[in-house]
Amino acid sequence: MDQSRTDQPATKLIASPDQAARLLRAGELVAFGTETVYGLGADATNAQAVARIYEAKGRPSFNPLICHFPSAEAAFRHVRPNDLAEKLARKFWPGPLTLVLPRQAGCPVSQLAGAGLPTLAVRVPAHPTARELLTLTGLPIAAPSANRSGRVSPTRAAHVLADLEGRIAAVLECGPCQVGLESTVLDLSGEMPALLRPGFITREMLEAETGPLASAATPGAKPVAPGMLASHYAPTLPVRLNATAPGPEEAYLAFGPAPAKGLIFQLSDRQSLTEAAANLFEGLHWLDEHATRQGCAAIAAAPIPSTGLGLAINDRLSRAAAPRAAPLAKPFR
Ligand code: AMP
Ligand code: MG
Repeated sequence: MDQSRTDQPATKLIASPDQAARLLRAGELVAFGTETVYGLGADATNAQAVARIYEAKGRPSFNPLICHFPSAEAAFRHVRPNDLAEKLARKFWPGPLTLVLPRQAGCPVSQLAGAGLPTLAVRVPAHPTARELLTLTGLPIAAPSANRSGRVSPTRAAHVLADLEGRIAAVLECGPCQVGLESTVLDLSGEMPALLRPGFITREMLEAETGPLASAATPGAKPVAPGMLASHYAPTLPVRLNATAPGPEEAYLAFGPAPAKGLIFQLSDRQSLTEAAANLFEGLHWLDEHATRQGCAAIAAAPIPSTGLGLAINDRLSRAAAPRAAPLAKPFR
């Protein structure tokens, strides 16, 4: 397995956005400061680099990540804005507001960065060094908070080093974070705008622009936080777990050994968990589409070891296999 990062060279504390941009473009992980907290950045179009974010954080599940851009124009080349999104972007960007919108057709952001969802969370940070870095990199940068899973979000470069030393290539010194709170997350992809995460931009500030917002606390309104529903990521076909081989009517999500024939998506023939994580959502989408078209009865998924990134892969697979919250096909008559 390639889970051990102990052979990683020491993490560099760097002051040059140019050097940080070169590392990001090479697929390395670089933490950088924004006005909210320090983010752990990777090229969002590079699924292996995104997989390494989860590996470095030791996150046991794949949550969709926020993609960062230097301008609203750059962000809106990757997602489809509506009128409200454009209005809020003019008012609050650059700044600590994240908008969830449908992906543009052909959006190059990896499926893993968006956890397989048809929507993407985007933000334009206000911090001048972060914006310089994003401009120099010229890529969408996926960045969750730069801490190990379960630890406190870092607001100084030293916090990042204390937590992630040896696990990431570099930390770009951006000074202490001014806001120190995560960004507000607003979902504009549904019929009604929904506040998914409270943050520095308050509900009142948003409602002055949007009118009443739905949220988990609004009676009758239940916006779905991604990953919360057990079956949220379910393909249309049933999924069978821990299958060492596919049955006669099954498509196969392989991890190493695979039959020579049949409808097969190989996550990683060399059994690399990083590679498997990078391919997971592509694989589920691809198999679901082709298996349905070819009349397969189910998708069988190979056993994945529950170590390192395997935990997050198995979390996602067991959600895909969970009993459905609502019937997906026509009820049996
Ligand atoms: P973090 O990157 O750890 O700051 O967290 C990102 C936040 O944005 C989480 O609360 C996610 O659930 C939310 N988020 C990211 N992408 C999406 C999306 N496509 N749809 C809904 N929420 C999202
Ligand atoms: Mg966090």
